[in-house]
Amino acid sequence: CGIVGYVGSQSALDVVVAGLKRLEYRGYDSAGIAVLADGGMAAAKKAGKLANLEKELLERPLPAGSTGIGHTRWATHGGPTDTNAHPHLDNAGRVAVVHNGIIENFAVLRAELTERGHALSSETDTEVVAHLLAEEFSACADLAEAMRLVCGRLEGAFTLVAAHADEPDVVVGARRNSPLVVGVGEGEAFLASDVAAFIAHTRSAIELGQDQVVELRRDGVHVIGFDGSPAETRSYHVDWDVSA
Ligand code: GLU
Repeated sequence: CGIVGYVGSQSALDVVVAGLKRLEYRGYDSAGIAVLADGGMAAAKKAGKLANLEKELLERPLPAGSTGIGHTRWATHGGPTDTNAHPHLDNAGRVAVVHNGIIENFAVLRAELTERGHALSSETDTEVVAHLLAEEFSACADLAEAMRLVCGRLEGAFTLVAAHADEPDVVVGARRNSPLVVGVGEGEAFLASDVAAFIAHTRSAIELGQDQVVELRRDGVHVIGFDGSPAETRSYHVDWDVSA
């Protein structure tokens, strides 16, 4: 339901949790976060309010990192449990993905993945994306390209945001029939389903177009279409009142 991604030099945990709080008004049943730290991926997710996730993070702190993604879920496939909460990880625990929307052809993809030896642990439509990204990444070693290839196999409406432990300073996003906005800061960049998640940090935003993939790095953003073509991006100034 709500999505936040961050790459920069601040604590990703702090930025992402604060961003998720700004999106709480949308309603949700679970929340989770993944942070890239110490060469690996660390994740925490809990059914219920963000307060449950924050309690979990106090009891079992994640290592500090400056690249992260977070999600508040409104369950469509699989009940609101800790396991079904996002992020979803691949079997090696190297890639994490969060998703808004519905992947209509997940059952076919799930059957294919199971046949290829993947073990899926949730009841969500989303989890297939983590496994597909892991497969594509192992072939191309480029998360944005892996995301582009995976999106070509998905049907439905989706905003996806992902990170991979082998590309620790990168967050990628993609969208089809579901919103995703990029925030461009000084030495940092943000992704969110709504600008409210990052306007405390930057007022410079780029609306991602339909069927586009964005790669976020500290020093800039790069957008391509699902067909691989380079995309024009134009940033605009968000002039809302922060307290609104
Ligand atoms: N379809 C996904 C799920 O049920 C995402 C739901 C959402 O948009 O939060 O986990």
